[in-house]
Amino acid sequence: MARVDAVVLGAGIVGTSIGVHLAKRGLAVALVDRRAPGEETSYGNAGVIEGNTLLPHPFPSGLSTLFRIAAMRGTEASYHLSFLPRVAPWILAYRANSAMQRRIEFAELMRPLFSRALPEHEALIADAGAERYLRREGWLKLYRTDAAFAATARERELAQKYGLPFRILDRAATQALEPALAPVFERAVHWPGAGSITNPLGLTRAYVARFEKLGGVVLTGDARTLRRNGSKWQVGTQEGVLDADAAVVALGPWAPDLLAPLGIKLPLAVKRGYHRHFRPRGNAGLNRPVVDTEVGYCVAPMEQGLRLTTGAEFADRDAPPTPVQLERLMPAAKALFPLGEAVEATPWLGSRPCFADSRPVIGRAPGQSGLWLAYGHAHWGLTLGPATGRLVSEMMSGGTPFCDPAPYGAERFMH
Ligand SMILES: Cc1cc2nc3c(=O)[nH]c(=O)nc-3n(C[C@H](O)[C@H](O)[C@H](O)COP(=O)(O)OP(=O)(O)OC[C@H]3O[C@@H](n4cnc5c(N)ncnc54)[C@H](O)[C@@H]3O)c2cc1C
Repeated sequence: MARVDAVVLGAGIVGTSIGVHLAKRGLAVALVDRRAPGEETSYGNAGVIEGNTLLPHPFPSGLSTLFRIAAMRGTEASYHLSFLPRVAPWILAYRANSAMQRRIEFAELMRPLFSRALPEHEALIADAGAERYLRREGWLKLYRTDAAFAATARERELAQKYGLPFRILDRAATQALEPALAPVFERAVHWPGAGSITNPLGLTRAYVARFEKLGGVVLTGDARTLRRNGSKWQVGTQEGVLDADAAVVALGPWAPDLLAPLGIKLPLAVKRGYHRHFRPRGNAGLNRPVVDTEVGYCVAPMEQGLRLTTGAEFADRDAPPTPVQLERLMPAAKALFPLGEAVEATPWLGSRPCFADSRPVIGRAPGQSGLWLAYGHAHWGLTLGPATGRLVSEMMSGGTPFCDPAPYGAERFMH
């Protein structure tokens, strides 16, 4: 039987980053996934390294927005009616966390992680020789009305408090940055401190290659075979049973499948999201990701084309895709940007793993020695993968963590 110091379960951007950090510290590490690395949620995101994030996405408010969403006409959010009773407690908790005071608390508690987001990617990118995927042009948030711009004033006040750079642009200044955008908006805010990735799958693969160079091994296996074996953990892989001193659960939206049978029941829900690539018309292009804030989608220039990503759909993780949001927002997207034909026949579907307070769980698994948790990164798994990897490796190796991990502990749900 093979043995390692640590087995990381799940080779998305989070698990892979943890693997690299543990291997860098000299540990013998195996990364186990049932698929090839990076092919699930970490494949399909908008590629934004949102180190500038301050406030979490609020629960929709305003009667007209709520009615639009309830009537299944919303572009920013959608739902499967039959799923609502099951997710109702989570939605109520999320709504409670949308109070401005709670959102500001999120900004404070998450700042240490977000402030390391881009620097930690830059360090891994340099190690992995993956510079070709990183764009340092920030991202743009567009506002179609002055009212919508005014409604986000708090975010900019906080940015000033934390010293995060941003620039408020009128239409002409926005078009100077992005000439392909039609003037269907009033203003934009450019956040130059954000980075973006032109191929998230390519980036995860580059980190995996770095991991292997450091001596890490990638194995195929089902994480749900994880068993305690005395003081160690054991997991079945195609290459045989693996013994590990420690195991890290980085299964993103699938973490509950492994944890619930072990008696660890944390209230994770998923916000499903879709993407589709489009070819630009003519020689139009974008230099950075652009968010159409009121309509609720992002267009990101990727190697595969212009990737249009949707907001949240509340539905069972495993229910068949229903990409109605994408259909609903296409007229607005086409009015903003000269989108040509779609690259793929059908949209991609992924599930953002999300706790109601929008914070991930990072740290020890309650009641299970040698088991660690790193999942629930919601809208920011790409952003926070490497910072999470560093934090987890520092905690596991008994070093001084670069920030206080208490706000991310699973214990916050244990009362
Ligand atoms: C439409 C959309 C847009 C987004 N845009 C952004 C963005 O711009 N910026 C950003 O930071 N984040 C964004 N996100 C969020 C981000 O993609 C996720 O938070 C992140 O990918 C989660 O990474 P992960 O490694 O935790 O999960 P995953 O990438 O899902 O990795 C989990 C892994 O576990 C494996 N697995 C599952 N079950 C088993 C099992 N039983 N046995 C073995 N392996 C198993 C899976 O195969 C998978 O590889 C977006 C998400 C969506 C859906």
